[in-house]
Amino acid sequence: MSRLVSVAVPVPALDLLTYRVPDGLDVPAVGARVLVPLGARRLTGVVVRTGVPAPGGEQAVALKNLIDVFDAAPFLPPSVVGLGQWIADYYLCGPGEAVGAAMPPFAWVESEWRVRITPDGTLRAGAPRSLLRSTLRESILSLLADGAWAPLRSIAYRLEHAGGGRRGRAVPARAAIRALQAEGLVEVEDVLGGQAEAFKTTRVAAITAQGAQALTGTDPLGPKQRAALAALAAVPEGITVTRLRERGLSADVLQRLEGRRLIGIRRDPVDRDPFDSSSLPVADGGGIADGRVLTDEQVAAYEHLRQRAAERGFATVLLHGVTGSGKTEIYLRLAGDVRSAGRSVLVLVPEIGLTPALAGAFRSRFGDRVAIQHSGLSDGERYDQWHKIRRGAVDVVVGTRSAVFAPLASLGLIVVDEEHDGSYKQEDSPRYHGRDVAVMRGKREGALVVLGSATPSLESYQNAVTGRYDLLTLDRRVLDRPLARVTLIDMREEFAVRGPDVVLSQALVDGIARCVAREEQVLVLLNRRGFATAVFCRQCAGTIDCPNCSVSLTVHGGRGDVMRARCHYCNYATTVPKACPSCAAPYLVHTGFGTERVEREVAAAFPGARVARLDRDTIRRRGGAVSLLGRFARREIDVLVGTQMIAKGHDFPRVTLVGVVSADVGLGLADFRASERTFQLLTQVVGRAGRGEEPGEAIVQTLYPGHYSIRHARHQDYRAFFEEELAFRRAMQYPPQLALTNGIVRAGSLADAMKDAGTIVEALRKSAKGGHFLVLGPAPAPFVKLRGEHRAQFFIKGSRRAALREAIGRTLAALPDLRRRVIIDVDPVSVL
Ligand code: ADP
Ligand code: ZN
Repeated sequence: MSRLVSVAVPVPALDLLTYRVPDGLDVPAVGARVLVPLGARRLTGVVVRTGVPAPGGEQAVALKNLIDVFDAAPFLPPSVVGLGQWIADYYLCGPGEAVGAAMPPFAWVESEWRVRITPDGTLRAGAPRSLLRSTLRESILSLLADGAWAPLRSIAYRLEHAGGGRRGRAVPARAAIRALQAEGLVEVEDVLGGQAEAFKTTRVAAITAQGAQALTGTDPLGPKQRAALAALAAVPEGITVTRLRERGLSADVLQRLEGRRLIGIRRDPVDRDPFDSSSLPVADGGGIADGRVLTDEQVAAYEHLRQRAAERGFATVLLHGVTGSGKTEIYLRLAGDVRSAGRSVLVLVPEIGLTPALAGAFRSRFGDRVAIQHSGLSDGERYDQWHKIRRGAVDVVVGTRSAVFAPLASLGLIVVDEEHDGSYKQEDSPRYHGRDVAVMRGKREGALVVLGSATPSLESYQNAVTGRYDLLTLDRRVLDRPLARVTLIDMREEFAVRGPDVVLSQALVDGIARCVAREEQVLVLLNRRGFATAVFCRQCAGTIDCPNCSVSLTVHGGRGDVMRARCHYCNYATTVPKACPSCAAPYLVHTGFGTERVEREVAAAFPGARVARLDRDTIRRRGGAVSLLGRFARREIDVLVGTQMIAKGHDFPRVTLVGVVSADVGLGLADFRASERTFQLLTQVVGRAGRGEEPGEAIVQTLYPGHYSIRHARHQDYRAFFEEELAFRRAMQYPPQLALTNGIVRAGSLADAMKDAGTIVEALRKSAKGGHFLVLGPAPAPFVKLRGEHRAQFFIKGSRRAALREAIGRTLAALPDLRRRVIIDVDPVSVL
């Protein structure tokens, strides 16, 4: 078999590299990490293919050797490596970036083998050279003579550079060490170097064979040493050093025993439990799930899913259930069935930090067989969780986007909750969509995939309508609770009566007053942060813009009465000046408003109420959202003002009113998904009202009460919205009618960006001759300048994805200099 392997290395836009496995190293398995040379660097990579056929000619000569193999068995499961390759192909990114997305923290770092001399080795080291058979082996043993662990790499390096810098001895040195290991003269182990803090470890002492002999033999032993050995002899798997100390056996004693090799001290990992640190609330539903009677609709959906799961093959089911219809309960029961059948379960959620209840429900149902994976965890926590899953100590994983790569074996079920949510899409490379990767993973591993939402994405619903997915519908809330009654407030009328500065309509103020008086809770949504959206000069009509981005700065309250102006894209910030920077006139006014202003208005109108705000500015701290939402759940807050964060899947039974300050925030954007996003956001936030005993109400302020996304959200009529939006997408040739890819070219000036984008577009048009796709552009991007870079945009649309992909891949491969400055976004969620 060929000793060539293909390796993915974490370098953007780099293809797979082929290396030769040198003699002395075993051919690594797919999924194992290896150390490879790349130019002058040495990098960790992941083996993607083994037994690669030798390339011909020059390429064969240029093949380099692997430097080392870190893992004797696959580190990433081969199924996950395969998924990474699919991502690289589909999303047109480098395989190293794709595989890298599946790696746990610390996995790329210098993982290394270390080596230590054994007692036999020490004896042999003094023997005549003939017994060692080579000076190389002799030098190795003498380098290890002090009995301490040494990194194999440093031994190899020292031998390589010994004797007047003769090179090329690294591989023989490794081979010699392996041979010494086979003879029992040295021991070798795999450790992750330079990252002891990453592990939370505990030191465990265990008795060695020599120790056991010493205990029965005649070796001189102090009384403490004897006591320690006796204790350890009774517990062969070892006792933690802490426990031994508690028994009065000092570190000194243990060290001396270790020095005599009568005991060994190892480090065992201690898993950090993210549930401890973030104190996830346990959802009230989780624990009593088994005793609860499902509604008829829940029963019908659950029975269908159970049958699908029993088939043990791939299928995708869209569970379209209105807000509060009890989807979580169905996931929990299905997960229980799949687990009992010996298969594992993966549950994806958009943001655990905002919806810890779902993770809590799984935890309370399945105990510590559940792991959670999300970006709010520390690296150490994620590391521990990942390894726990990989060891098979976990069979249910609840996590955000990147958990789609969780190293679970025998996957039986993947749930994607709130499948429409935009946070499933990764906005930097690899630009994958967690939901779509989940479906692909289900397909590759023969698992059932359940997509759940009250407001499915157009793509998923279209797939259900055309029969690619099964469609299950829950039209009613549990216990027949009514959906919230929605009142639209036409703000043009409000402005006509009360002037143009109105933030809260009279109806909303009255509604909040009623709730506060009845000690019920209120959510107020405005999907825009800050105090004011722009600073405007009344003399020259200029605004204060970001120097790095083509946007105006947002005003935020600072300390005292100093206002700060900040860019939401690059974080540039400055104090709001007293006079206009362009014309020096002192007539600056704030225009537009965001959540800070709403919070202030509500607090001023209701001095007795407890008002708080949830947006990206108030939850900077890790766990900030969980603690704020916890306070709201404990009813320590009466009115919670916030951005879309307050709309996400929360279940607060005491919320009876939802106010939407401006339903139109997203409608003006030059994005074909603007209506869909507006409909989803409104329907979701309205769905937060009336989930308990009291019925709910929503008051929605808008300038466009006739807009279809607002009209249909008002009646929470998903199907009507879907039909109307689909007609628009058909007419405009947008997804799901066609596949779309967005290209952005970045350059130092707009002229350069446009010129380079033009080059790419021209090349693409040439390959589009067959008529399989259409190239639009180039044009200045909606954010024509972002973080100091100028941007030009182009689109490729077509019905045959493969043709589209192939053409882009080929075009960019032919333009290597440009490739690094081009962002290719396949199936973009946002085209701004
Ligand atoms: P969804 O995710 O569909 O919006 P949830 O799963 O959050 O809805 O369920 C809404 C509420 O109804 C939760 O408090 C849940 O515990 C409760 N619930 C779910 N199923 C039932 C049932 N069969 N009987 C009573 N309450 C239920
Ligand atoms: Zn900026």
